[in-house]
Amino acid sequence: MNFTSPNATLASPALAWTHRFSALGAHFSMPTLPTPLATPYWVGQSAKLAAELGLEPEWMASDAWLQALSGNDVLPGTKPSSSVYSGHQFGVWAGQLGDGRAILLGEALGQEWQLKGAGPTAFSRRGDGRAVLRSSIREFLCSEAMHGLHIPSTRALCVTGSDAPVRRETLETAAVVTRLAPSFIRFGHFEHFSFKQQHEQLKTLADHVIERFYPDCGDSTDFANNPYAALLAAVTERSAEMVAHWQSTGFCHGVMNTDNMSILGLTMDYGPFQFLDAYAPGHICNHSDNQGRYAFDQQPQVAYWNLYCLGQALLPLIQDQDEAVAALDGFQTHFPQALALRFGAKLGLPAGQAAPDALVQDIRNLLAVDAVDFTIFWRRLSHWVAAQDATDSSVRDLFLDRAAIDAWLARFAQLHPPESRGLASRRMLGANPKYVLRNHLGELAIRAAQQKDFSVIADLLKVLQSPFDEHSQYEAYAGFPPDWASGIAISCSS
Ligand code: AMP
Ligand code: MG
Repeated sequence: MNFTSPNATLASPALAWTHRFSALGAHFSMPTLPTPLATPYWVGQSAKLAAELGLEPEWMASDAWLQALSGNDVLPGTKPSSSVYSGHQFGVWAGQLGDGRAILLGEALGQEWQLKGAGPTAFSRRGDGRAVLRSSIREFLCSEAMHGLHIPSTRALCVTGSDAPVRRETLETAAVVTRLAPSFIRFGHFEHFSFKQQHEQLKTLADHVIERFYPDCGDSTDFANNPYAALLAAVTERSAEMVAHWQSTGFCHGVMNTDNMSILGLTMDYGPFQFLDAYAPGHICNHSDNQGRYAFDQQPQVAYWNLYCLGQALLPLIQDQDEAVAALDGFQTHFPQALALRFGAKLGLPAGQAAPDALVQDIRNLLAVDAVDFTIFWRRLSHWVAAQDATDSSVRDLFLDRAAIDAWLARFAQLHPPESRGLASRRMLGANPKYVLRNHLGELAIRAAQQKDFSVIADLLKVLQSPFDEHSQYEAYAGFPPDWASGIAISCSS
């Protein structure tokens, strides 16, 4: 294995790597070389992300990229490292965690690049530093699906796989996801230095985040010129926005530990996540979550709890407890506002117009009582609104209680006078996706990939990257889940 020779095809275009995170110093991260992965092959590639980054299309066929993104070669100019963080897991202080299997290459093309599953690091504890094919495919597809849904998320450029065995409950095979984000800093990074009373490092980290990502906080006149309280308020707002997206799309994260909460308000660390099939507010997607701490309808409350942990961690910098509480209080206004705007869009209202509370609450109740498919309901409603034809029973057929849905539809119809129904329908088709990464779709992609057929991944990626478009040849991906879908058990094991 060589870690030296820059390959000619890699240098086209030569990426200019910078290392602002690792430049923070040895308290934050340490050099960590990826562990080579035997005989890697491509599993999935996001040509769309590559194009957005300005990568030459040839990278997708390049063996040099395949090797580098599998951890077998170090890209010229990168400085692989892993970082330390701590966190609260399932409501309990877990102490030091850190990048146990993700290796940061540095920053290029405006993004930090991480190889997830690239082997052990100083923070692997008892783990093997690897990720299995199954969970890597889920992370890859979901990252790109979330972006397609306009939900803030880390991105994924590709997955590479290997026949190298990895032991979980059964013997599986290894994979590496190349994931990208402006930063992978988590709430847990702040909790780490705060818990250890390393206030100098805590300040360095906060200043780094403010300077790079929240420049307005540096000279904020809110919060009595307290940039750290302003930072907490800004993160609170972004997190509220993110969770409002989740709740309006039926996305259940599954492991909202503070170490999985991005300081940029990005959805990150895809594990046992699930998009709801039938609407079930108390749905628990993570089979390891016995108490239902991270049930679908708990997510806003958990985000708030996690923000409190961040606030606690930042207190040595904020100093004034009242300021910290005031910053966190923003959640109580931002979240309901953001959610009402999301539902306003789903109901076809003009941008910036909030949904009427009662209308939203009542449809959620009806959807829950009859366990109606969440995505299919909103998509059918988006078509129905155009004509509001009494013979079109596509929406009411989803419900057992026909009288109740008829009454609700009559109220909904009043939002859109006849002359604006076409416009409302177009708006709704742009707000209510036809395609989400349902568990069974991920499972189909995984099963095919385990037989070395990667075409389902490519097909799913295509529809999930533009989930509001019709893609009529992929209609099957927009249908109800099959019976076996409810038997899929997704745990933390990955
Ligand atoms: P997660 O549940 O994936 O968010 O991971 C929680 C913590 O466990 C993080 O510090 C991960 O880096 C670490 N971790 C998870 N899986 C592994 C693994 N296979 N090897 C090493 N560390 C791991
Ligand atoms: Mg994690």
